[in-house]
Amino acid sequence: MRGPGPDADGLVVDGSSEYAAVPDAFQRLWTPHRMAYIQDGQQPHADDCPFCVAPAMTDEKALIVARGEHAYVLLNLFPYNSGHLLVCPYRHVATYDQATPAEVAEIGELTQIAMRVLTAVSRCDGFNIGMNQGRIAGAGIAEHLHQHIVPRWALDSNFFPIIAGTKAIPRLLGDVRDDVANGWPSR
Ligand SMILES: [Zn+2]
Repeated sequence: MRGPGPDADGLVVDGSSEYAAVPDAFQRLWTPHRMAYIQDGQQPHADDCPFCVAPAMTDEKALIVARGEHAYVLLNLFPYNSGHLLVCPYRHVATYDQATPAEVAEIGELTQIAMRVLTAVSRCDGFNIGMNQGRIAGAGIAEHLHQHIVPRWALDSNFFPIIAGTKAIPRLLGDVRDDVANGWPSR
């Protein structure tokens, strides 16, 4: 084990003996990519709507794959599957019946394009598409309308959700965003 002091590149490396540590029976699964969930705040305040904040950020930061005139498309930070997209109007409206005809039309158009792009880039076999209207119906962010587009593969269900309440997501969000954004047709 190395002791403290500069290494060959001049970097100061601390020896582990410098730190208090008590070995235990647990193995560590290091998941630094999950810091995005913690640092960026996974539980927004009611007055800090993430779907209103996202369009002001860069596409990469907000995981946006396409922007329309009345609505935009971004990756869900809590995906059911790789490529789980959300289509949101820019306006802060809660339910589908509050959307204007122009918003309804563009949400539909963006949903169709998203299906084609996901089919092309991820070779999915099907989709679950829908909106949870109201918190009682399962909407995580009930205050701002959003349509889910969840790509499905023939063998994407496994025993993880049943035994552990856990979904295995094989790809990182940034990589999926890049693929979908690059596959999106230019307007
Ligand atoms: Zn909002």
